[in-house]
Amino acid sequence: MAWRCTGKSNAELVDNLVRSKLVSHPRVVSALKETDRAVYCPYRSYVDAPQSIGYSVTISAPHMHAVALQKLEPALQPGSSALDVGCGSGYLVGAMARLVGPSGKVVGIDNIKPLVDISKNNVTSDASTDTTLSQMLAEEKIRFEVADGRQGGPSNETYDAIHVGAAAAQLVEPLLNQLNSPGLLFIPIGELSQNVYLYEKDSEGKVSETCLFGVSYVPLTDPPVGVS
Ligand code: SAH
Repeated sequence: MAWRCTGKSNAELVDNLVRSKLVSHPRVVSALKETDRAVYCPYRSYVDAPQSIGYSVTISAPHMHAVALQKLEPALQPGSSALDVGCGSGYLVGAMARLVGPSGKVVGIDNIKPLVDISKNNVTSDASTDTTLSQMLAEEKIRFEVADGRQGGPSNETYDAIHVGAAAAQLVEPLLNQLNSPGLLFIPIGELSQNVYLYEKDSEGKVSETCLFGVSYVPLTDPPVGVS
């Protein structure tokens, strides 16, 4: 899928994602249009491929962000709570905040402290032209923490939507436990061969699993030696 949706501007990139039928929810399309990838990825911003953001990490390709938001959309309603595990550039935190709005909450976690700082700086830059984001930052409805996603999100919190941006060796039970009923968890799982799974908890707490497609993500792992 890489390259197919590349555009000359953020609007053209998103139009190409829509044309390729990767995204269709009007709310998700608006959130992608408002979240200018150049704020989070200064080089080759509108190329439909992952780009390096340092620390051996990449911002995911635009088509992956689009598909993740499209799948999680039912759990990203105004007032919803969301967790982004492996927030990296912060792009999805910015986009999810636009979907859940000022009565919602978005928490981004990463196990590399400098990336948490980069996420925070990028969302703060994005917020300089967006009153919803700036209000949410001021009221701590957008927060970032350094944490190992394999242990779950910040304790005592539960979420309507959880996105995991790195591949887990197996289902991360603490994250499933922190999913509300109803709620949606988007998580790549696997080592040599990886697939994205969507876990859906219904309003009675019953969990169902759907295997969506094969992917190639960096693993959910320890930070590199000397960086944390
Ligand atoms: N979704 C982000 C980054 C994707 S790269 C974006 O598109 O910008 C995967 C991210 O997962 C990296 O930032 C990496 O540091 C983080 N990560 C890897 N292992 C982790 C762990 N155990 N806990 C939390 N974050 C982790």
